[in-house]
Amino acid sequence: MFPGVTNSGYRDGRLIDTAPDDAIYTDVDITEILITHGHADHFACAAALRRAGSRVIAPREEVALVENPEVNIRGMFSWAKPSDEMVTKLFRGEGCFVDGYLDEWSGPGIQIIPLSGHTLGHTGMLTADRVLFTGDALYIRELWDKHPLPYAIDVGLVKSSLDLIQGLDFDWLVPAHGHPVDKADSVLDIQHHVARIEAIEALVLRELRQPRTTEEIIARVSGRLGLKENPAQYWLSVTTVKGFLGCLLERQMIEFYVQDYAGYWRTIASL
Ligand SMILES: [Zn+2]
Repeated sequence: MFPGVTNSGYRDGRLIDTAPDDAIYTDVDITEILITHGHADHFACAAALRRAGSRVIAPREEVALVENPEVNIRGMFSWAKPSDEMVTKLFRGEGCFVDGYLDEWSGPGIQIIPLSGHTLGHTGMLTADRVLFTGDALYIRELWDKHPLPYAIDVGLVKSSLDLIQGLDFDWLVPAHGHPVDKADSVLDIQHHVARIEAIEALVLRELRQPRTTEEIIARVSGRLGLKENPAQYWLSVTTVKGFLGCLLERQMIEFYVQDYAGYWRTIASL
């Protein structure tokens, strides 16, 4: 692996995600770059490496985001145009043409593991030497102080992916952010991640014992978790809190209605 602000991996000519600067791959023979998902900090120098001759492979659902980061930025703001200060730097970067889909890809020594939830098509990779690259599917314990509300579009899928990771056979797990952990430590990290999700779900259910607008529940959750207060963090929280609301709605634990032209959420009374 290449440690960095985004860790990247390497096996048999394949690079897994990229660091911000392609200089660290000088003298590395890269035939293909396998991208875990469409956030710009994971394909930061993919365009530069592709210009030098590598092919880029990405999950099918993430291709539009990799090729044009503006798609992700627009999605964040319901397809309208946000201002620059509203957009996290993690979403900004150089787009990169994608040469193939990960679900159609196969290569020696790397197994593709779908790990949806952080984004729709988020995907991990397990190498033949028993190293699992999990992208942003797992936030290890050391990250939670800085990231008390990890970005997720669907927390139910995040939990299923964490379950799946725990059932896999590997010696080392390399998250995209933070240091590698061995199998025993990864179990504790997964348990912690699941416990945090369940605690945030409980917080949402408690807060929605009285009806609150989308704006109010985002503010309540952000305040209780002690998030930084700035426009970029706010817009990340909008998505993730909706990731919780959508999941609780699907499980029929909360309901949604419109009153006086505002959208309200409320915990189902019998819970
Ligand atoms: Zn990400």
